Amino acid sequence: MREKLVIGNWKMNGTRESNARRLERLASEWRGASGRLLGVCVPAPYLAQAQAMLSQSAVAWGVQDVSEHESGAYTGDVSAAMAADFGCTYAIVGHSERRQLHGESDALVGAKARAATAAGLTPIACVGETLDERERGATNDVVLREMDALIGALRSDTAKMVVAYEPIWAIGTGRTASPEEAQAVHSTLRARLAQAGAAEVPLLYGGSVKAANAAALFAMPDIDGALVGGASLDADEFLRIGRA
Ligand code: PEP
Repeated sequence: MREKLVIGNWKMNGTRESNARRLERLASEWRGASGRLLGVCVPAPYLAQAQAMLSQSAVAWGVQDVSEHESGAYTGDVSAAMAADFGCTYAIVGHSERRQLHGESDALVGAKARAATAAGLTPIACVGETLDERERGATNDVVLREMDALIGALRSDTAKMVVAYEPIWAIGTGRTASPEEAQAVHSTLRARLAQAGAAEVPLLYGGSVKAANAAALFAMPDIDGALVGGASLDADEFLRIGRA
């Protein structure tokens, strides 16, 4: 039975005060159930706050990026071991904002996924196409190229990751892929994972997920949950997505 997960990506948002209100609400309202997980990936400076406020709850927490290096002269970077030191379960790697704004290559994203598993974290590896790539019919080529880089980097640890399909044209735009559009890509990704002996990897959808569209997406056979950006900043909306 594949795990069902809803993970929030707060991106570069929050203050100690607003985080405290949001984390308190999640910790008190979320009732964990076996195989159904809720988590939030917070900005690195707030990992200690997330750990302090969530450790007695059923809500997991994680980091939004990790270095590919273990330690050393990499000013400004955060290692996977540091995130693990703050009790993180998850590390997002290869978010499209990092691929596009920080020039992260498939090889670098693979190395980050490997660094995360080496530190005992679960990488949430993002793949997805631009609008231009979708319109020229290149969606499968793009997501499979990104997936193959991850499988090549993780090898026997491939089954330890979570994959998030996030069409770039749907992130933060209010435009969601239809459940059928998302399912078509998820089924392609599932087939490639199965070839790699990792058919049980949870496949999340991300891109303008809200309480209003979550249930229809989650009804698709290969969609195991969501990576949620904007809507994860509203605790009640995020809880509704989790319950969906
Ligand atoms: C994301 O940043 O991973 C994301 C899916 O954002 P949003 O839900 O705001 O589209």
